[in-house]
Amino acid sequence: MKSEFYKERVFKAAHTNISSVELDMSTARSPSNLSPEDNLFPTVRVILVETSHPGNIGAAARAMKNMGICNLYLVNPTQFPHDKAIWRSASAGDVVRNAVVVDTLDEALEGCQLVIGTSARDRRIPWPMLDPKDCGEKVFTEQAQGAEVALVFGREAHGLKNEELQKCHFHVNIPTGKAYSSLNLGMAVQVLSYEVLQASLNGVKATEQWDVGPASADEVEHYFGHLEKTLVQIGFHDPENPRQLMTRLRRMFNRIRLDKMEVSIMRGFLTAINKKYK
Ligand code: SAH
Repeated sequence: MKSEFYKERVFKAAHTNISSVELDMSTARSPSNLSPEDNLFPTVRVILVETSHPGNIGAAARAMKNMGICNLYLVNPTQFPHDKAIWRSASAGDVVRNAVVVDTLDEALEGCQLVIGTSARDRRIPWPMLDPKDCGEKVFTEQAQGAEVALVFGREAHGLKNEELQKCHFHVNIPTGKAYSSLNLGMAVQVLSYEVLQASLNGVKATEQWDVGPASADEVEHYFGHLEKTLVQIGFHDPENPRQLMTRLRRMFNRIRLDKMEVSIMRGFLTAINKKYK
């Protein structure tokens, strides 16, 4: 009985604070044999990029399900499906079997309005950072408002590439001892999933209200493509000598977190420039 009570408490906590955008449970994805009580955060997805060891996929799935997160996306995994993924997942085989396998990170990010990337080390161009606790609170509050949220994890050997990290609004680093900063992939998934559940149990409140929904990763990606093309057209950007122009512009617009209306205004503005320069 205790576990039923606990489940109910966690489920309620995860779905409170729904404000500006209503969470539509009828369209929320829930892997077929997982009930809404198991999938506490139906608009949160964990994305693993080019995982080499299938055992780590299973470990990540177990870590997720323990914390009530069930939507797993795999970008171009080296070996999948694989028995080792099922073995390591223990009782989270359903999360593994329901994983969505895609070829590119862009496909995995389709529809996502908050994208958080993970990194074990500092990158050359600093990005807005969250610590794991703030990350958990942000993910929890935005999903409670109905946003699609992605937590992105990198390759065991090389992490995420810079161009992948540049698709994110925030980066999260899990603090470690100085001698060894790289966690096992499944462990990193565990820490961040735990913080999402913890935020829900702590009754974190959603504060920010906005009139228009946040643009999705694919809308923003099309905008960046259009922006780059236009900057080349007007002679401001030389793709042969790009320096860090597009990286800095990406960082600026990801920091602003464009809403859908702002993206369409910017696209219209660029189209007007394109016509003048024809
Ligand atoms: N050698 C790689 C680390 C890969 S570990 C590198 O230097 O980037 C595999 C993945 O686990 C990482 O891409 C990240 O998603 C996650 N991870 C491992 N340690 C982490 C840490 N300290 N903080 C945040 N994520 C971490």
